[in-house]
Formats: sequence, C-alpha cells, structure tokens
Amino acid sequence: MEHFQMYIGGEGRDAASGEWIESQNPFTGETWAMIPRGGAEDAAYAVGVAEEAFRNPAWRDLTPTARGALLRRVGDLIADNAERLAEAEVRDNGKLKLEMYGQLQYVPQWYYYYGGLADKVEGKTLPIDKPNTFAYTRHEPLGVCAMITPWNSPILLLSFKLSAALAAGNTVVVKPSEFTSTSTLELAKLFTEAGFPPGVVNVVTGYGPEVGEPLVTDDRVKRVAFTGSEAGGQRVYQSAAAGLKKVSLELGGKSPNIVFDDANLDNAVKGAISGIFAATGQTCIAGSRLLVQRSIHDAFVGRVVEFAKSAKMGNPMDMSTEVGPVTTPPQFEKVLKYIDIAKDEGCELRLGGAPATRPECGKGWFIEPTIFTGVENKMRIAQEEVFGPVLSVIPFDTDEQALEIANDVLYGLASGVWTQNLNRAHRMAHGIEAGTVWVNTYRAMSMTTPFGGYKRSGLGKENGTDQIKEYMDVKTVWIDMNDEFPSPFSMR
Ligand code: NAD
Repeated sequence: MEHFQMYIGGEGRDAASGEWIESQNPFTGETWAMIPRGGAEDAAYAVGVAEEAFRNPAWRDLTPTARGALLRRVGDLIADNAERLAEAEVRDNGKLKLEMYGQLQYVPQWYYYYGGLADKVEGKTLPIDKPNTFAYTRHEPLGVCAMITPWNSPILLLSFKLSAALAAGNTVVVKPSEFTSTSTLELAKLFTEAGFPPGVVNVVTGYGPEVGEPLVTDDRVKRVAFTGSEAGGQRVYQSAAAGLKKVSLELGGKSPNIVFDDANLDNAVKGAISGIFAATGQTCIAGSRLLVQRSIHDAFVGRVVEFAKSAKMGNPMDMSTEVGPVTTPPQFEKVLKYIDIAKDEGCELRLGGAPATRPECGKGWFIEPTIFTGVENKMRIAQEEVFGPVLSVIPFDTDEQALEIANDVLYGLASGVWTQNLNRAHRMAHGIEAGTVWVNTYRAMSMTTPFGGYKRSGLGKENGTDQIKEYMDVKTVWIDMNDEFPSPFSMR
C-alpha cells in the first residue's frame, strides 16, 4: 500500500485532520494507495503559500522568457517520466496504458507551446484623441488560480490549464478528483525539480465539498478553472460568483457523430468506435449519439457491432488491451442504470448491455461495449450524458434532419461529421452548435486548437494562443505629458 502526501510549498504534507481516502484500482477492485483527506484548513494553507509565492521576487520578477524556459524544462521532465506517470493513472483510473503512455508523451507539447508563448504577450500603444498623452496596455497575471479536475484524464486536463496559467505568471492550487489524485501529486513534484520556486504549484487532495469548495470561495483565489460534471460546474460557478471570480468551466457532452452515405465507411466505422469505446466511453467528447443516414443504417450498424465485438478487454496495463474497466463503482452503477433506462425506453439492444464477465476482466469494474438502435433523440439515453461504453444509434434522412437532431440537446461540446462532400462538410461544420467539429476524424486534440463547450458544455475555451490572456488582466496606463493640469472640475 502506498501513502501519498499533498504537495504544498514544494513539500509533502498530510491532511490537517490526519484522515485518508482509499484510492482503488478499477482492474483489481482493490485499494492500492491512500491519499490525504484534506479540508478547509488545508485549502487555506495552500492558498496562503501560493499567494506568498506569487509575491516572491523569485517568481514575480522572473522575465517571461525565463518562465518559458522553466516550462520547457518541466515538459522535458514529463517526457522523461511518461511511463511512471502513465502507470499511476492506469492504476488509479483504469485507463489503458496504451492510451496513457501516448498521452503522456504528448502532454509536454502543452508546456513547450505555452513556454514559447510566455514572452509573446504584447500590450498595445493606444491611439488617443488627447494632445500630449500617451496610453498603453499591460497584460498582468491574476494571482492565485484554483484548478479543479475530474477523474477521467487528470494530467492531460490539468495541463491544458496549468501550462497557460504558469506561462502568464500566476501561481496555482490544484484539487484533483478524490478518485484519481496520485498522478497529479507525482506531476507536481516535477515542477520543483524543473526549478519552479516552491509554492508556485501546489496540490490539495480530498472531496469536492470539503476541500474544493473552500478553495473556490477563498477571497485570495482570483481565478477558478474547473473540469467536471454539469452539476459540479453549476455548484462551482455559484460559489465563485460570491467572490466575482473569473471562472472557466469544461463540462459534459452528448456529442453527435454523424455518418452520411457518401462517407469513407471503413474510416467512419473506426471513427464511431473511437468516439464511444476508446477510454471506455469515459470522455467528455464521447460521440455517444451515432447519427447514421437511413440508406446505410443497417449495414453500417452491423459493421460497428462486429468491430466492437472484437475489441479486446482486460488488464489496462497490457499494451494490447483495447477496452478497460469503468473507473469508479458509482460510475459502474450509473452506466448500468442508463442501460436499464434505454431498455425501458424500448431501444433495441444490439450488443453488450451487461457487466463483462470474461475471465480476462477478473474482478474489475467492466461493462461490455453496448450498442442500442431504435433510439429516438427525445429519449433520456439520447439526451443525458452516460459517460461509459454505451452507444445510441439514431437514423436520419436529410442533412437538415441530421442538423436538427445533432443540435437538439442541452450540450454542445464536440461532434463528428463523416462525408466526402466538401460543401456538405462545411455546411454541417457551420450549422452544428458545438465547440469542436471533427470532419472525417474524431478525438483529435492539440495544444494549438481552442477547446471547450457551447451551451451547457461549458464556459470559456482552453488551448490555443488566446488562452494565456484568460489567465491575465489588462491594465491601461496613461501618461500625461502636458506641463500644466487644466481645470480639475471637468473630465479630461
Ligand atoms: P465531478 O463534477 O463529480 O467532479 C469534478 C471535480 O470537482 C472533482 O475534483 C470533485 O471533487 C470536484 N468537486 C465536486 N464538488 C465540488 C464542489 N462543491 N466544489 C468544488 N469542487 C467540487 O465530475 P467527475 O465525475 O469527476 O468527472 C466526470 C465529468 O467531467 C463528466 O461529466 C465529463 O463530461 C466531465 N468532463 C469534461 C471535460 C471537458 O473538457 N469538457 C473533460 C473531462 C471530463
């Protein structure tokens, strides 16, 4: 059994309460690590340390170029430690090592990209309609930022935020999910190793209401970046509102993956599978609604079912495994509940629909890849986020109908369009109400492309050049070069 400590001010620290949370391995179902059950006292301490670090000349007076160099160094360290970090995530959340190792080798790019951007944030000199007056803008860091992350991809989702916030000159307190904290704790140590002053990156662990909420409501925290469920996002948004904080929310989705009859169907089958069964469907961008043109519906669904049937389940540490376990017992129950809902709604079960009892799944929390046809878009299975390996297939006839169904949900995170018709591809891309439209691909991610939700899928965008300014405030500086000050009683 491994014991992890919180990471505050460059040092490990137990919770003030002395209590612990068990972290379980979804493949074995057994507790493999203990993490501190932090509370309000720990959150306040970490914010104090982060605030002190923000004012410390060792960080505050670093030039943006020097900050960039530190970020590049931490990127190198993440690459060097990719295997170790990947294994921590596999043990904690059951994600495939195949996926995690690839992800961890890509994550450094976020630190290189924002490291490069750190010294390219330029203010403006402003044309001004007053004689002998000079005005310019400065972009300045905000201060202490709180970052709250979910269990499904702890390091990647944190890196979206952390790389930009640090490049902008802020300090950070992270609160990872109580289910999957260990990789974030390991990651934090690399910042000290890279040369970041102690207190610039801190991690508190524990439950949302106990340690996350006090973080969000602490007056010294200036910015909150949250990734998680819609309900969690609503709570965080409300709590942050009292302090009028800047907030970004990356929330859930019910993304349409739309296949037209003129698509390259070999690729579209793989796109449909990747949309819902990669990462066991536990991704915010899951293409959980597969919209298929009626003329190819039966043949296409048959191919998707056959492909899904052949997916290899089992130990996520095994590089040949393709579908791993569900991460947590509550999520396991939730997915099974939605399978029952779909059955009650009259959908036709074409594959799966039950826990996986294959010997290679051992005692893990596995659910068979599940496919329902005969789904109507108004059903709960088509409207609500399942966050698991459950695909709803919905037929359509025309482009207009596809768009109507695609947009008829509360969410708008991502979408896929499969067609070889250029005009149709662009028309769909313009018409879909979602933050990302992938044409003839799915689940592609880059640090250079803005990512985030429309509608209830969130507020704000992460990644891309604009994001660094989301972690900065703008100050306008006026210089009056006149020798005399005119009447003090009129506006200048
Ligand atoms: P969750 O909302 O239950 O928890 C997310 C984080 O918020 C956890 O760290 C949790 O402890 C914390 N939290 C909970 N209550 C809180 C409170 N009152 N104050 C402060 N913090 C609190 O979400 P989850 O189950 O961990 O993650 C799954 C959800 O995340 C899914 O809905 C998924 O779609 C979403 N998600 C979105 C994105 C995206 O980029 N849009 C990415 C990944 C996951």
